[in-house]
Amino acid sequence: MTDHQNTKIVATVGPACNSYEGLGDLIEAGVDVFRLNFSHGNHADHKQVVDHVVKLNKEKGSHVSLLADLQGPKLRVGKMEGEGLELEQGQIVTFTNTECIGNAERVYMSYPQFAQDVTVGERVLVDDGTLVFEVVDTNGQDTVRLKALYAGTLKSNKGVNLPNTKISLPSLTEKDLEDLAYILTIPEINWIALSFVRQAKDCKELRQHIDRAGHQAKIISKIEKPEAIENIDKIIKHSNGIMVARGDLGIEMPMERLPLIQKEIIKKCIQRARPVIVATQMMDSMITNPGPTRAEVTDVANAVLDGTDAVMLSGETSVGRHPTLVVKWMNSIIDEAEKVYEIGTKRPKANAKSGTFVSDVITSAAAWAAQNVGARAITGMTRTGYTAFKLSSFRPSSKIYIFSDLPDILNTLNLCWGVRGYYYDGFKSTDDTVKDVTNILKENGHVQPGDMIVNTGSMPLEKRGRVNMMKITEVE
Ligand code: PGA
Ligand code: MN
Repeated sequence: MTDHQNTKIVATVGPACNSYEGLGDLIEAGVDVFRLNFSHGNHADHKQVVDHVVKLNKEKGSHVSLLADLQGPKLRVGKMEGEGLELEQGQIVTFTNTECIGNAERVYMSYPQFAQDVTVGERVLVDDGTLVFEVVDTNGQDTVRLKALYAGTLKSNKGVNLPNTKISLPSLTEKDLEDLAYILTIPEINWIALSFVRQAKDCKELRQHIDRAGHQAKIISKIEKPEAIENIDKIIKHSNGIMVARGDLGIEMPMERLPLIQKEIIKKCIQRARPVIVATQMMDSMITNPGPTRAEVTDVANAVLDGTDAVMLSGETSVGRHPTLVVKWMNSIIDEAEKVYEIGTKRPKANAKSGTFVSDVITSAAAWAAQNVGARAITGMTRTGYTAFKLSSFRPSSKIYIFSDLPDILNTLNLCWGVRGYYYDGFKSTDDTVKDVTNILKENGHVQPGDMIVNTGSMPLEKRGRVNMMKITEVE
């Protein structure tokens, strides 16, 4: 019997995999969530991908989730003359907020208040941190002079990171608002990721837009700024999920802090029952090579052992040479690491002050019972996703099967550790529901006679309340 994996795989879509066949191959290889990266591609391209995935889910009976990722206040230099500007160590360059083709005299950067926000001595990192500048002076209006700390080439359109600067740009830029308005016309989008989140206010603002549109999408905050680390507890509280966005975070923070930040954020997310994604450069060498490096294999395995809900592929699947192969590799690494993953003492405790205390005690008891009776499955019913997020956060030793009459919520939950969804619209007595879900699990080969199942549910049925019931079933 092949079980599904607990740790999920998020794959970024791009030209290397965005055909109907390409996406189908990735689902077969084990992708659970597709990320549509709104930093690239146009709306029509993204919509095409949504349509393909909707069709593939129907055909395969899968619940692959869709995550739309907003670019956020990402700063960039403008176009440069020729192949870019060769910089010598110590050379002074002038950044301006007036558009121009960059050269040794002037370089454009897409940040109107740069001269106002920056202070002398702060660092300016360009091109994934390969170029490091120090602010020499600013006229407080429109120009800033920077000193190159190392030699290098300043090329067109490269990203800029300002780790020390309090940036006054809004978290939803004009481009984000346009993209968001479009995303909110697509009901099948399950998750919306917000880049460069700095405080909980950023999440609340996005939430308002989503609610106003009457959309069901849930929010993932991308942690990639030092300010987000300072405000991490509130950000987790006001988000539905978190991404450890190691790409930008590794530029904005001393990179040696990444491994511990990753562990810390995962721990906090498990405590709050928020799914968490570890992202960027997990299998980077496979953008070109047909196999990973030892360091990459170890990195993916360590993320699994940290207890992450999901690991993410970026360029590996969007523009890489081996999109399907890299997913297969990730699967094998996850399989192996999950043999030893144990949550141990890190399992969250139900909070007596919380309004959901009773149901949280039951779901946590279900995880405990499943371990004790060696159950193959825990089942839960949901319409909001709450039961699934909670069951998943206890990281039980058995698989979690979630039943709902809302297909979109099943797709949303596909990001969560250990969760697999099944459509179920029976509105029957507890006895009959338990029989039905047991049969579904049996028919799909997840359990066989003699296996134990821990069922959770809510009685009486008509109230459609939170979980208040747990039952242990032996499969006949
Ligand atoms: P990005 O986010 O790929 O959209 O930049 C992830 C990261 O920064 O790690
Ligand atoms: Mn990023």
